[in-house]
Amino acid sequence: MSVVDRQEWDVVVVGAGGAGLRAAIEARERGARTAVICKSLFGKAHTVMAEGGIAAAMGNVNSGDNWQVHFRDTLRGGKFLNQWRMAELHAQEAPDRVWELETWGALFDRTSDGRISQRNFGGHEYPRLAHVGDRTGLELIRTLQQKIVSLQQEDFKETGDYESRLKVYQECTVTRIMKEGSRVSGAFCYERESGRFFVLEAPSVVVSTGGIGKSFKVTSNSWEYTGDGHALALLAGAPLLNMEFVQFHPTGMVWPPSVKGILVTESVRGDGGVLRNSEGERFMFDYIPDVFKEKYAQSEEEGDRWYEDPDHNRRPPELLPRDEVARAINSEVKAGRGSPHGGVFLDVSTRMPADVIRRRLPSMYHQFKELADVDITAEAMEVGPTCHYVMGGIAVESDTAAARGVPGLFAAGEVAGGMHGSNRLGGNSLSDLLVFGRRAGLHAARYAAGLTGLTGERPLVDDVQVDTAAAEALRPFSAEGPVAGVEDSRPPENPYTLHQELQQAMNDLVGIIRREAEMETALEKLADLRVRARRAGVEGHRQFNPGWHLALDLRNMLLVSECVARAALERTESRGGHTREDHPAMDRAWRRINLLCQLTDPTGGLAATDPVHGQIDLVRETTEPIRPDLLALFEKEELVKYLAEEELYE
Ligand code: FAD
Repeated sequence: MSVVDRQEWDVVVVGAGGAGLRAAIEARERGARTAVICKSLFGKAHTVMAEGGIAAAMGNVNSGDNWQVHFRDTLRGGKFLNQWRMAELHAQEAPDRVWELETWGALFDRTSDGRISQRNFGGHEYPRLAHVGDRTGLELIRTLQQKIVSLQQEDFKETGDYESRLKVYQECTVTRIMKEGSRVSGAFCYERESGRFFVLEAPSVVVSTGGIGKSFKVTSNSWEYTGDGHALALLAGAPLLNMEFVQFHPTGMVWPPSVKGILVTESVRGDGGVLRNSEGERFMFDYIPDVFKEKYAQSEEEGDRWYEDPDHNRRPPELLPRDEVARAINSEVKAGRGSPHGGVFLDVSTRMPADVIRRRLPSMYHQFKELADVDITAEAMEVGPTCHYVMGGIAVESDTAAARGVPGLFAAGEVAGGMHGSNRLGGNSLSDLLVFGRRAGLHAARYAAGLTGLTGERPLVDDVQVDTAAAEALRPFSAEGPVAGVEDSRPPENPYTLHQELQQAMNDLVGIIRREAEMETALEKLADLRVRARRAGVEGHRQFNPGWHLALDLRNMLLVSECVARAALERTESRGGHTREDHPAMDRAWRRINLLCQLTDPTGGLAATDPVHGQIDLVRETTEPIRPDLLALFEKEELVKYLAEEELYE
């Protein structure tokens, strides 16, 4: 039996992005001793990269805005597949979460009369995104970090120990959620630098690990996005919801190859940037779908007037939801009207004076100057779709963020499913992670507190589980050939090769436009990769060994990729971030259907599963009917476009 250090907490938060930090602050403020654990340095999470802003209906720039309008926009963006109660809570609570950030020291850009400025973004009826230039995520994380440090200082005054009630374990990875019976009992972790194993014991675990983008070749996501939280939840017995919905952001860099996929923020279009093809046409006017026809400008002149006079004109189609714009760009390139490097042109240079561009879009200016030698104040950018965000995620209870079926497990932020339906609106992620990060922290603390007292035995971490988790983590060091039970005698596999093959397969076969035969091929490829991944081998020691980290992350990427491919094959319609060439229309009958992925082997032991036949079971579930007072926020003619026949009847 291995000797593994154990530390006891009330709540463990996995992930120190916006969702994790907001959850940790709430849990600590509710009296729970809280540990936060993250793969990267504290303050370096993916949230830092967020550019455009936080969506919240504060009505600072247009007083017509309110939570009901935000709710409507969110449901339209998600094509009515959103977990509606989450969308309601999100729209209602986002303004308070932004105000709260100000009280904790955030400094947002201002309107001329001193209020928090709000900018336009795709799919939002009014200017709604509170922002700090195009570096909003940095300010958000800086503020939450500062709040954590201030709480630690309070604790020091009382206990003499900064970390007595709130501790951050940075550069550490969780590889397993531990359970006693059905209940969560803690997390198995290792330090990335030393490779040392340790266990954080806690009855509540909040998963806030972000997305899955690193399973795709072209992505805006950072190295941390290997779907760990999705996989940890699956392995702990919780289902994932609607994993077929992956957002391809319309504007990633396409050139040079080393930076392909890096995001070009939607603020460029929100602030007046336009998309043109190689013939100089503003092609988005040709791609306004019927469901949005009445809401978008029908001519360039009207679209341009909207920036100055939004009350009397309709918005330009460059600001359609992301799925629409991404598909349009894809079609233009396919039709031979693309830019020299396989994208289209995004131009602000002819739309704003150079000093305004540099002031409003400072990061974009530097990004293009330094990475592509393009001066965006003088020439157009070349852009194309990039894998950006996963709408699918851990199935949670809307009010409490509790993961389904596993007491003590909670999820918030990008890793949680439901909130965004089939497509997320820009800006709705930062607000989502604040609203549901807070809720997850609150309910995780309450759940942990409820276990103390007379009835309250806390679940224990079992030694056998610790040893199994340690053996699983060490397996890449002993991958010398065939694994028992697998008929294969080839030499160990290189984790980097496996990762590249996985990314290529997902990009080519389960990417922005999907076809049945290709997804079947993807599943075959994934089966092959799963078998080979069991022999992923690394050399050297546990210290400073990135190959080992990748070998461990592969398990997670393969699991979530299988979920994406299986669910995408099953859903025979096109909706939001899921486009089927063979089923191009949105089918109202599918609005009532959620797809849940569960691990085939309910014990969570991968060893028992058959890698060839897959590890995921897919279950169809009927969506909960939308509450009538929320439906009443929409015109009947609009509902007819989305709701299933029987729902309309009801
Ligand atoms: P993250 O911020 O990614 O945090 C995840 C955390 O989990 C990290 O600390 C990571 O280290 C940790 N972690 C992961 N796996 C493990 C593990 N196994 N063990 C321990 N720790 C682990 N959204 C908006 O609303 N507005 C925007 O303007 C915007 N701009 C964006 C720009 C870019 C370039 C990108 C890529 C995204 C943007 N988004 C935006 C999306 C948004 O940034 C993300 O969806 C959001 O930040 C996710 O936050 P999170 O807290 O869920 O996860």
